Amino acid sequence: MAKSYDLLAIGAGSGGLSVAERAAAHGARCAVVEADAEALGGTCVNRGCVPKKVMWFAAEIARTLGDAPAYGFPAAAADCDYAALRAQREAYIRGINGWYRTYLADSDIDLIPGRARFVDAHTVEVGGERYRAAHVAIAAGGSPVVPELPGAELGITSDGFFEMEALPRRAAVVGAGYIAVELAGILNALGSEVTLLLRREQFLRSFDAMLRETLMEEMINAGVNVVPRSQAGSVRRAADGTLDLLCRDGEVLTGFDRIIWAIGRRPNSAGLGLESAGVAVDERGFIPVDAFQNTNVEGVYALGDITGRAALTPVAIAAGRRLADRLFGAMPDRHLPYENIPTVVFSHPPIGTVGLTEEQARATHGDAVKVYQSCFTPMYYAPMKARHQACMKLITVGAREKIVGCHIIGPGADEMLQGFAVAIRMGATKRDFDDTVAIHPTSAEELVTLR
Ligand SMILES: Cc1cc2nc3c(=O)[nH]c(=O)nc-3n(C[C@H](O)[C@H](O)[C@H](O)COP(=O)(O)OP(=O)(O)OC[C@H]3O[C@@H](n4cnc5c(N)ncnc54)[C@H](O)[C@@H]3O)c2cc1C
Repeated sequence: MAKSYDLLAIGAGSGGLSVAERAAAHGARCAVVEADAEALGGTCVNRGCVPKKVMWFAAEIARTLGDAPAYGFPAAAADCDYAALRAQREAYIRGINGWYRTYLADSDIDLIPGRARFVDAHTVEVGGERYRAAHVAIAAGGSPVVPELPGAELGITSDGFFEMEALPRRAAVVGAGYIAVELAGILNALGSEVTLLLRREQFLRSFDAMLRETLMEEMINAGVNVVPRSQAGSVRRAADGTLDLLCRDGEVLTGFDRIIWAIGRRPNSAGLGLESAGVAVDERGFIPVDAFQNTNVEGVYALGDITGRAALTPVAIAAGRRLADRLFGAMPDRHLPYENIPTVVFSHPPIGTVGLTEEQARATHGDAVKVYQSCFTPMYYAPMKARHQACMKLITVGAREKIVGCHIIGPGADEMLQGFAVAIRMGATKRDFDDTVAIHPTSAEELVTLR
């Protein structure tokens, strides 16, 4: 007879672990199915946020070492011992994987290793065994897309980026989203010669124009070769073993050790047997859900990247916890609103952004929009010749000047945004910001002194 649960989560990533943890805390009998059970934690822990942030820290250190002489330290810059960095990073990740394993056991959540496939809406098969559950939460995440081009297999994706055993001497990153920008920035700071190939004129096209324009200038000044309006056509291996990237307009970019595809992610929905459960997918394979994470089938939910909405770890976690609160915690209205989700791009310098872009605000609120903006050189750069910019923008609406967007680029933006996001979620106005005493001398004080 099939083993039975109150809740079965498919995928032990940010979403699946969170829904099961919270449901178990409410007393539900839970299991999590994971195809890669040695690597608990999913994309974020193993191939996403966590290893990326370690690499970003390393890149920031490389940049800081370059600044050190301006503060009286002798030139300290040295090449990165990439093998040591990688070993530390992987040890840290193995620690997190182990922590999750213990946590699941301590929380009485069964870990079912293997690939889940629906038999019907409430029955899932894993490695020939069947499991039944009143509630099934699909949190199988996504995978990086490799373009269908001749020679594309010679390139790698963000997954391959974290498998690299050496820093490439020359790398091409193809893509315009935040992952492309982050990987290009990390490689550049660590000493690789980087080309960033953009299909259109700009990267980060869904971000506020001030952010992407400032970052573009910073990246070009830092030595990244940004190639706009260029589409990859094929890849070939040259006689010397390096890779050539042949663009559709006839341009040939040569001499790369690595070509990294960062052109988007697709949902891991094929192979789940969704048709057996009657769960609908959209034309790209994402699972549409309502505001409560319900799919079109009663008792089957989807959360995280597989839904195609705000593909971020804290979003998957919040959606999972609230779903469990609703199902098992007697909170029938509990759900995640998807507005005002703060996010950071770990570029150099980093970006922090929440709410509407100026363009979106003007399209929705027209003349009721008032924008406050400031660009300045942070004090850190005072003793040196380098003149890096920080820029901040507040977007307000109406006579009360309610803040509907906050956009920051500059050192510290990554840590600055979280508190401002709380204020904005609570409905802060420009007056609330103005009435807050500044912290001096910081860059953040600029946001409460904007004129
Ligand atoms: C390079 C990179 C950097 C990122 N940086 C950030 C960041 O800085 N901040 C941030 O918030 N987000 C970041 N993200 C996004 C973040 O990683 C994802 O939004 C998050 O991991 C989504 O969680 P999830 O639970 O939906 O899916 P995942 O974490 O992908 O977990 C899905 C799990 O399901 C398993 N699985 C798939 N199919 C099956 C099956 N049939 N049966 C059993 N198991 C299955 C997979 O093995 C996987 O473990 C980054 C992503 C990438 C790729």
